[in-house]
Amino acid sequence: MRYYENEVGVLITQDAVQQRVKELGEQITRDYQGRDVTLLGIMKGSVFFLTDLLRQIDLPVTFELMGVSSYHGGTETTGEVRITHDLAKPLHGQHVIVVEDIIDTGLTMRFLLENLAARHPASVKLCTLLEKPARARVQVPIDYKGFVIDDHFVVGYGLDFDEKYRNLPFIGVMKRD
Ligand code: 5GP
Repeated sequence: MRYYENEVGVLITQDAVQQRVKELGEQITRDYQGRDVTLLGIMKGSVFFLTDLLRQIDLPVTFELMGVSSYHGGTETTGEVRITHDLAKPLHGQHVIVVEDIIDTGLTMRFLLENLAARHPASVKLCTLLEKPARARVQVPIDYKGFVIDDHFVVGYGLDFDEKYRNLPFIGVMKRD
């Protein structure tokens, strides 16, 4: 019996996650031939995805991290978005791929994309591991997508519930949503 088994069930296996990350890395490698790329990971949830994705990209690639918060411990968004950790360097002239764990209502990403546009990067694309279309309140353009999921609260592979379960190597569902 693993420590999480009473609380979390497997939705997407570790193998399926790793296979999809590899495919996304190959796609980005093809799309960005001849260019340098900056992956911009959104803390904390996307960090596991970001570091795996980086290793599947066969290009000169750097990464930065930004902290954006819209959740405050529970499972419901407050709609309030704030930057909790900003970039130390400008993005001016860079080809940026924003790396997110999940697009739920879309409110966080809409705020972030507007904020990034004001920094005048050469281009901005969005890569998310998961999308939950049933909950979308605003549409955001997703260029690279791992999986589309139903309306579950998911944990694992960086995603948390009250900071727990980020270390699970698969995408799981809370048994008591
Ligand atoms: P949005 O602004 O799109 O509603 O929410 C985006 C953020 O909410 C994600 O980056 C993530 O931190 C959090 N979030 C949304 N859905 C889930 C979920 O099912 N599980 C977890 N752990 N976090 C979620």
